[in-house]
Amino acid sequence: MPKMPPVDAPRMLRQRGPVFYRQKHLLAIEGLEPPAISQLLDLSESYVLLNRSGKTQRDLLRGRTLINLFFEDSTRTRTSFELAGKRLGADVINMSVSTSSVNKGETLIDTAATLNAMHCDLLVVRHDQSGAPNLLSRIVDAAVINAGDGTHEHPTQALLDALTIKRRKGRIAGLIVAICGDVAHSRVARSNIHLLTTMGCQVRVIGPPTLIPAEVADLGVTVFHDMARGLAGADVVMMLRLQRERMSRGQIPSAREYFRFYGLDAEKLTQAKSDAIVMHPGPMNRGVEIDSEVADDPLRSVIKEQVEMGVAVRMAVLDMLSRGHRRNES
Ligand code: ASP
Repeated sequence: MPKMPPVDAPRMLRQRGPVFYRQKHLLAIEGLEPPAISQLLDLSESYVLLNRSGKTQRDLLRGRTLINLFFEDSTRTRTSFELAGKRLGADVINMSVSTSSVNKGETLIDTAATLNAMHCDLLVVRHDQSGAPNLLSRIVDAAVINAGDGTHEHPTQALLDALTIKRRKGRIAGLIVAICGDVAHSRVARSNIHLLTTMGCQVRVIGPPTLIPAEVADLGVTVFHDMARGLAGADVVMMLRLQRERMSRGQIPSAREYFRFYGLDAEKLTQAKSDAIVMHPGPMNRGVEIDSEVADDPLRSVIKEQVEMGVAVRMAVLDMLSRGHRRNES
């Protein structure tokens, strides 16, 4: 077989065509059109190749400031935004809310005004209130990226999930994706439902009636309360964390009972296609929503790959959102 020439990721990144993503911020997946989503995924793919080649692109955001403003805990998202910003040459500042004036009673709007006065270019926000990044985007000059707001959306998670699916399955359209567990409290579920239905997937949600809000059916998904029926023939099985911090009492009987009916183990997974992949946004509650045997199965689980894709997707988003600035400068 002839040897393929190596892929030149930096050259792919320099090729600039029409821009389909024309928003200043990234606040939600809802409302994005397929060309904009595809373009973000293609750009992310170039960053996967760049990262794997060991090359960098540090001139892209040189002189730009990125502030990570996290009002809720995070491991993967905050770290990967930090890495993404640094790999593109930005100055990255992590604002830890526990040591900031927010704890002294400063309102979100005052915090935003303070950050604005520092002339930050990119503001990555996680907040427990749905709509907080949207509010900030109306006050600050920076491009705002929603890194998860309450139970609303987590757009970069849906993009990294889509990239993982596309790389593993070779396509997105036409796949059957089962999203299982605590849909009611999951911003990951909501962003994924918007993205995957927009890109032509058949999306199912599976969970106990207490954790599946009635309105979810209006988003174009099929609701199942029985795991075996919901998983039948699925190409992708996406597990969700039980978000106890957002729950009222009595929404689930006990962790053990929950696992029996809705936890993914090897036996339940046999209902899905034999080559179905297993995903989880993390952090995982092993033995509650997913069994370790499945989570650590290298043939089925793509959970670590999701983390790798997270860095590439965040680089693509930072690149895309800073294009407006770069156009104004040239
Ligand atoms: N890390 C994801 C989020 O922030 C999922 C989770 O916490 O369960 O929404």
